[in-house]
Amino acid sequence: MTKLSIHFIGTGSGAPSLTRGSPAIMIRREGVGLLFDCGEATQLAMRRQRLRFRKLEAIFISHMHGDHVLGLPGLIMTLNLNANPEGLAIYGPRGIGDYLECAFKATLFQPRFELKVVELEETPSPTPVHRGDDFNVYAVSSRHVVPSFAYALVEDDRPGEFNVEKALELGVPRGRLWGELQKGKSVEVDGRVVTPEQVLGPKRRGRRVVYSGDTRPCDTVLELGRGSDVFIHEATFTDDHLEEAQAGGHSTISEALDVIRKSGCKMGVITNIGQRTRPEDLEKLVLGGESIIVASDGLTLEVPLR
Ligand SMILES: [Zn+2]
Repeated sequence: MTKLSIHFIGTGSGAPSLTRGSPAIMIRREGVGLLFDCGEATQLAMRRQRLRFRKLEAIFISHMHGDHVLGLPGLIMTLNLNANPEGLAIYGPRGIGDYLECAFKATLFQPRFELKVVELEETPSPTPVHRGDDFNVYAVSSRHVVPSFAYALVEDDRPGEFNVEKALELGVPRGRLWGELQKGKSVEVDGRVVTPEQVLGPKRRGRRVVYSGDTRPCDTVLELGRGSDVFIHEATFTDDHLEEAQAGGHSTISEALDVIRKSGCKMGVITNIGQRTRPEDLEKLVLGGESIIVASDGLTLEVPLR
């Protein structure tokens, strides 16, 4: 069974504080790490939370505001020092290439490992940008004051449940051939072909984790989050700061909750909490039991299989 966990490294917005660091979320899957945004001091928070640097496969940047990218050059330099990564891909809006190039040039730094930087074009419908072992990461344009993206990690569907009785009935002996069928391959038994369709139930949907980045409530992000296992949405402002949220391209807490509820996701998480939001503002929220929660630095969620 493939483990999938989400680690909230930093859950604040704007300047990092002692209680909430700048935005960064790691998704771990079979030991492989994917990082979403990389605010200042992300690498320190990763160390504190015992998240390994080694298996970092890709980093996805939602947009170029400093609180989401200032940790990137430092993290890359540390990877270069001691992690000996097999290569790292970084995805983000236009400008991310220039940003890294400037930082590297000014600090006389050259990565010793393969660094692939991909600048994404704006896209109103989800576009696959990264292929993992058995999952894709999609990007879609969101609605902030600068070019911005929301991301979804979507696992491939898994084969349906294996029907043991049916396999035995068809004369397939227990062992290697069962494994082949489970992988979706046809097998031969006594000159007859047995197909996976004969012994497998309907396909089981892969898991889906969605991260909004900074955004006003919008349809593209809502659709990306629809039916997800975990839908992480920003909630920078309390409801009495709606005008600021509108001007700054952010969501209020109620707006974020509204998008999450409309999406039909299994679990919603609000993050990117403004530094002016007080703990008591969050405590008094009626969130809906365990299905919607407020992220905090160090929070880890295991995402069960469907
Ligand atoms: Zn922003």
